[in-house]
Order: sequence, then C-alpha cells, then structure tokens
Amino acid sequence: MMSNPSRRNFLRGRLSTCRSPALHPPGAHAGFLQLCTQCGDCSRACPQAIVVQSVSGFPELDFSKGACTFCQDCMRACPTGALAQDDTPEWPWRASVGATCLSLAGIACRTCEDGCGERALRFRLVTGGRAIPLIDTDLCTGCGECAYVCPAGAITFTVSQPGQEVQA
Ligand code: SF4
Ligand code: SF4
Ligand code: SF4
Repeated sequence: MMSNPSRRNFLRGRLSTCRSPALHPPGAHAGFLQLCTQCGDCSRACPQAIVVQSVSGFPELDFSKGACTFCQDCMRACPTGALAQDDTPEWPWRASVGATCLSLAGIACRTCEDGCGERALRFRLVTGGRAIPLIDTDLCTGCGECAYVCPAGAITFTVSQPGQEVQA
C-alpha cells in the first residue's frame, strides 16, 4: 500500500456526511443519492474493477474483487458531481473483524495482518491458541485489502471515529 502525504491527506479528509450506509465510491457526499444517475461511469473508470452496481442500482465498492488504491479515477469520471472532486474527499470507513475470523477459533491465520500495508492490524494472544485481531482506526485507511485477502470473509466495514481500537 502507498503511504504518501497526498494520499494521507486524501484519507484524512472530513468525515462523511453521506446518509447512506452503503460503501459508495470515494467522494460520495450528502447529495450522492440525489445526484447519482447510476450511469456506471465510475465503475468503468476504476482500474481495480471494484466499483459494482448494487441491487439498489447505485455504485458500491466490492472488496471481494480487490482493494481501493484511492486513485480518484472514479471521482474524476463522475459527470454529475455525485462524487466530490475537491482535494479533501471523504472516506470514513474502517475495517472491523467479525466472528468468522479463523484466529478467534484457534486456527493459525495472519493473512489480514500480512496484507495490511498500513500496519493497522495486530493480534493479541489469548488462551487456547486463539488470537484476537485488533484494528487501530487511526492507521486503518479503509482500503479493503484485508477483506480481499481474508479466507474467512471475516472483515466488514463501519464508519468509525479516529483513535479507536476495534476488537473482534
Ligand atoms: S479511488 Fe480508484 S481504486 Fe478506488 S474505487 Fe475509485 S477508481 Fe477504484
Ligand atoms: S459516475 Fe457518478 S453519476 Fe455515474 S454511477 Fe458513478 S457516482 Fe453515479
Ligand atoms: S482496510 Fe484493512 S488492510 Fe486497509 S488499512 Fe485498514 S486494516 Fe489495513
């Protein structure tokens, strides 16, 4: 994962005011549902091919297909302003680990930790050979790489305040 200043600023933009709980593409703002025409331009522009049309018809990120590099190509492609095109777009999502995590069941797995370029994931050893995954939301960028590589589908995303440590 990249970790340059411009990307960091991009990720540390103001928290989302989008009222939809869905993982709409970066830059989705409070007026997203009114402005998005479901044209699919953002989906076609995404080099990672992770922007898909949801059942609602609106675009959403699908981390089972890959991670977001925050390249902003989707934002630049949007013809309606549904995705903000200023210097501080919003991406408030942070990873959390759910009950299907293999480590929680005592099965050796550090795939998400290995995949996280931001070092936001770590494990706390507990009894019975189990380990509890912990996510530092200050370090997590919500890129989705951990979800992409997780063999158990245990990673979900929530809007989270910075400074938290999310525990499964
Ligand atoms: S920022 Fe780039 S990688 Fe992320 S969803 Fe948009 S086009 Fe795809
Ligand atoms: S390019 Fe903009 S208007 Fe078109 S589907 Fe994507 S977000 Fe909606
Ligand atoms: S989404 Fe996952 S891989 Fe990306 S920074 Fe957060 S914990 Fe690391």
